[in-house]
Amino acid sequence: MSKRYTAIFLMIILALMGIFYIIQTHQSSGQAENQTINVPIIMYHKITQVDTMLGDYAITPDEFEEDLEYLKENGYHTITISELIDFISKGLPLPDKPIILTFDDGYFSDYKYAFPLLKEYDMKATFSIIGKVTDEYTQEGRQDILYPHITWSMVIDMVKSGHAELQNHGYDIHGQSGGAKGANQRKGESDDEYRDRLSADINLFQARALEMTGIMPTTFTYPFGAYSQKSEDILRLLGFSASLICAEKINKLTVGDNDCLFGMGRLLRAHGTSISEVLEKYDE
Ligand SMILES: [Zn+2]
Repeated sequence: MSKRYTAIFLMIILALMGIFYIIQTHQSSGQAENQTINVPIIMYHKITQVDTMLGDYAITPDEFEEDLEYLKENGYHTITISELIDFISKGLPLPDKPIILTFDDGYFSDYKYAFPLLKEYDMKATFSIIGKVTDEYTQEGRQDILYPHITWSMVIDMVKSGHAELQNHGYDIHGQSGGAKGANQRKGESDDEYRDRLSADINLFQARALEMTGIMPTTFTYPFGAYSQKSEDILRLLGFSASLICAEKINKLTVGDNDCLFGMGRLLRAHGTSISEVLEKYDE
């Protein structure tokens, strides 16, 4: 074969490979492209039997079980945020009527009440814990009868079971130190100082989570829901795929639109209501 024919032959092969590649990638992601779904994300904090603590941020174990019963009877399927990210970014399939249950702050009641019920109902939830507090409880240097928190061994147990996903709620920014709420920028802090401080805190959590569970969180749950464009930009720089706030809305999410995973709202499930009331109130 002359050099010219060899070149033409090679070009044809390359062109065919290109066409084959395009067809393949189109087939694998094309089906769900532009598909938009509504995903309610429910926000819980503490579960307790102590009457005087019940309110917006604490419900009874029976109330949580009633929620799971309702979801089961009404065809909902609990998914993790990681599964939602895979759906949006890769078009991987989700079950019908997906819903996400989230627990903030890493209370001991996650392990004592939520985890056994999730196992019993074969459901999943996302737990966003405070890194420093869990470190302190693990080291047994901290005790609090009314607000006990989980230890890393409990987190590992939950994550290993497949019924729980761990996400980042900051290592030590769950307060108002420096006059700024949670992940907010402090007064007088330059943009560079802010980026470095917030990145260091969030990355410390990432390192602890990876060390303890072998899994790197993908999502940042804003303490108090306090967020800004700057904090969202920092999360993207750090490689996060999603963020959760506290605005009460059901999220409309479109496959291929990775931005829609940032600033996702959550519905507060307070004591004295029910998950059906919460869902009805926000469903359009
Ligand atoms: Zn919190």
